Amino acid sequence: MPIRIFIDQGHNPSGFNAGAEGFGLREQDITYQVGMYLANILNDDPRFEARTSRTTPEQVLGYSNTTSLAERVRLANSWPANYFISIHCNANDNPAINGTECYVFQNYTQSYYLAERILPAIVNRVGTRNNGVRINPSLYVLRRTNMPAVLVELAYITNYEDAQKLGSRQYDFAYGIYQGLLDYFGFSVLG
Ligand SMILES: [Zn+2]
Repeated sequence: MPIRIFIDQGHNPSGFNAGAEGFGLREQDITYQVGMYLANILNDDPRFEARTSRTTPEQVLGYSNTTSLAERVRLANSWPANYFISIHCNANDNPAINGTECYVFQNYTQSYYLAERILPAIVNRVGTRNNGVRINPSLYVLRRTNMPAVLVELAYITNYEDAQKLGSRQYDFAYGIYQGLLDYFGFSVLG
């Protein structure tokens, strides 16, 4: 049985639950494409099976902010997925703030150990700053999923250097997450 990975591309294309913006980029477009790259990479590897929360760039999930998040969790729980990865871009009023972070519900769980593999793999691949694995028990998609769940903040869309990477290295962000998964499971790269 392949390991089932549910990929949640954070946010909707517009309206409620839309994402952050910076330097002419929209978070929801980046998360959509990184999620699609990651799903394709995983589905090309027989050890994994991947699904995404949004299957087209125009697709809107839910009918409010809360139900948009609930629909993502429902899709993962009803599959059921073995692991849940939510992809986001960070934003800050201070344009100097930069780097990659992973959020999990609590310390010393499978979610935490997976995040500890994904984070350095992205940083090595893309060259962002490692801001560490952080605990956030209030994030809905981490709280309500029935399987280990990691929320990845790829980089800051409000920082110039990070935004360049978010705009031009979407495949590498996806491949970094894949490398983190391989590392977590002790799998080698397919030859
Ligand atoms: Zn977000």
